[in-house]
Amino acid sequence: MSSHRYTPERVLVIVAHPDDIEFGCAGTVARWVQDGAAARYVLCTSGQVGIKDPSISLDEAAAIREREQLAAAKMVGVDEVVFLRHQDGILENTIALRRELVREIRRFRPEVLITGDPTAFFVGDSYINHPDHRAAAAAALDAVFPAAGMPTLFKELEDEGLEAHETRKVYVMSWDSPDTWVDISETIDLKIAALREHTSQLGEWNPEERIRQWAAERAKGKEMAYAEAFRVITLKSDEDWARCKGYVQPERCAEPESEAAAVGEAAR
Ligand SMILES: [Zn+2]
Repeated sequence: MSSHRYTPERVLVIVAHPDDIEFGCAGTVARWVQDGAAARYVLCTSGQVGIKDPSISLDEAAAIREREQLAAAKMVGVDEVVFLRHQDGILENTIALRRELVREIRRFRPEVLITGDPTAFFVGDSYINHPDHRAAAAAALDAVFPAAGMPTLFKELEDEGLEAHETRKVYVMSWDSPDTWVDISETIDLKIAALREHTSQLGEWNPEERIRQWAAERAKGKEMAYAEAFRVITLKSDEDWARCKGYVQPERCAEPESEAAAVGEAAR
């Protein structure tokens, strides 16, 4: 797969910390929202240990970073941000976290889920991927498939009116094995503006030049100026998605066009 202009109806992004989305995929989210998609963010932690000032309590730090994340989301047109408020810095891919993420997936019923790459330990030669990033990504992938789509797993969520949901596609933010590049030339300014909302992390640093450089590197040879790159897993066929929109129970699905036509054919 190469570049494309696909826009999902609903996109859910699951990450570990405030600012992960802005570094990774906010240009793509901004573009999809401009094209009419509904988007929601889920943050497993509130990034409170990312503020390294001992005079600021962890609770205050969490509040600061949540405010920054809400502002960053708003910048790209996303109004809904869910904070699961796990302890920052020691996030684990537990069954309890998986259940929480299944709840969010069944609640929002996304067409596309975006998350990180849990296999990424090393990024380039000067960065070791944060263990929270790996844990959040692994938990998100374990939640989206197969758990969220299994009606008898986490059945207690039915009490909240939530039904099983099969997501159409998963976009894994991929550093070294992308197969899909989303053109963010029209939204890179929004991505940078959203990132700049994280003032507690950036300090005096203006990230514009670095972000443009990275996005231009990703776009190289792709007939676009700036890109974000993903590895895309397609979990549901186009036909299944068109008929069932993520629902698992057959009675929730529309009659397949071709079958209805075939029945009409036979009856004649
Ligand atoms: Zn992070």
